[in-house]
Amino acid sequence: MTVIKQNDLIESVADALQFISYYHPVDFIQAVNEAYEREESQAAKDAMAQILINSRMCAMGHRPICQDTGIVNVFVKVGMNVQWEGDMSVSDMINEGVRRAYMHPDNVLRASVLADPDGARKNTGDNTPAVINYEIVPGDTVEVDVAAKGGGSEAKSKFAMLNPSDSVVQWVLEQVPKMGAGWCPPGMLGIGIGGTAEKAMLLAKESLMDPIDIHELQARGASNRAEELRLELFDKVNGLGIGAQGLGGLTTVLDIKVRDFPAHAANKAVAMIPNCAATRHTHFKLDGSGPAKQQPPNLEDWPEIAWEVGDSVRRVNLDTVTKEDIKDWKPGETLLLSGKMLTGRDAAHKRMVDMLAKGEKLPVDLTGRFIYYVGPVDPVREEVVGPAGPTTATRMDKFTRTMLEETGLIGMIGKAERGPTAIDAIRDSQAVYLMAVGGSAYLVSKAITGAKVVAFEDLGMEAIYEFEIVDMPVTVAVDTKGEAVHQTGPKIWQAKIEERKLVI
Ligand code: SF4
Repeated sequence: MTVIKQNDLIESVADALQFISYYHPVDFIQAVNEAYEREESQAAKDAMAQILINSRMCAMGHRPICQDTGIVNVFVKVGMNVQWEGDMSVSDMINEGVRRAYMHPDNVLRASVLADPDGARKNTGDNTPAVINYEIVPGDTVEVDVAAKGGGSEAKSKFAMLNPSDSVVQWVLEQVPKMGAGWCPPGMLGIGIGGTAEKAMLLAKESLMDPIDIHELQARGASNRAEELRLELFDKVNGLGIGAQGLGGLTTVLDIKVRDFPAHAANKAVAMIPNCAATRHTHFKLDGSGPAKQQPPNLEDWPEIAWEVGDSVRRVNLDTVTKEDIKDWKPGETLLLSGKMLTGRDAAHKRMVDMLAKGEKLPVDLTGRFIYYVGPVDPVREEVVGPAGPTTATRMDKFTRTMLEETGLIGMIGKAERGPTAIDAIRDSQAVYLMAVGGSAYLVSKAITGAKVVAFEDLGMEAIYEFEIVDMPVTVAVDTKGEAVHQTGPKIWQAKIEERKLVI
């Protein structure tokens, strides 16, 4: 009988979560680097360069890869011969580990979990509770997979109860383009097939804990239906040309995982969950000898990428830019922004739009300004702000027309595509939408030289800040005429990939 002390599990969970906040899995970095080397679309290549540079900086600086430090997902396999010492439940131990990790003073992580999700949506303050799944297995150890799942990629999860004769491949190929780029590709897709509705979702999620090994599978060939599906879907999803950050390119997925389970004769449940550019997971085993300590990877496993924007890049001073100036900006063009910009995301937008509807004056003047959709991590030590990458812009789409027409705002910065209502509003107001790379939050924060809260302080990380920035790299994603790179880029690259297949 193995005895596991409660503090061993608490410390192991806390250590694992700190570890994955700043170390990408090495297999993931190698896969992004391979994709970066192969990529021919300049926009996608630039995005992957930023993801790789950001990853190396985080590994060296021990600060989070992404400002969204995720909701904690845990899979626990408890050996039947294990006894627990202490009076806490295993879930309480895990949640105590989460609490310690997210409030660690040397590397504070962002608390993103809200209680009462359809009501008050109040931040629990310490990122608890984790989502925990248990399995009781033979043996005398406890094995734990820990992941921190970003909200942007989780938001793109899909589920369907297919008819038994329906094609899973066809369903996946219909869903992936609808997911847009808010899941921050390149990443992985976890697919669960069979069982019941909840079983398929769990299979999909748990499959994402596996290492990237599609190249090994390609070399040895499939030995069952799940592996056949992996190979077919890997080629076909990448053939969609979506590319890194949805900008169009050769690599959208670095791997596809498929797990299946016997199903009722009338059902074929299928679930798909993406993992993003901030893929974060690790594994540990407790055998009664004390807490598990994660082994730091070798920094030589991180490529040293030099990313130069070139002398011809357009430098923009946000303090003086005018509505006339932005008409020259071309879709897909890289800009380096300097000067002052405001921030705001979901809760701030909702409050501002509600205030405008009541005829109230906003606490900040948005005339001629840019707003950055971000909820930064709190700073530590000498930082002015913690990692501060963009959040998914489509969530702000429903507020966009009001913001542009009633506040004098001229530009927005976020991640991924805009939907049709926002694009129409941008074109009608001759405004612009700029895209920063999701999953490069620490790199972005290095361009921020000043940060102060200017309104809605009670909203915490969702408050409105004024950032002072120097040379923050962004891409023009929707221009003043409403042309959107997330529509044009994937179409161009899908056609190029198709053309090559025909030539081969
Ligand atoms: S990389 Fe994108 S989807 Fe992933 S956690 Fe960061 S912002 Fe969210």
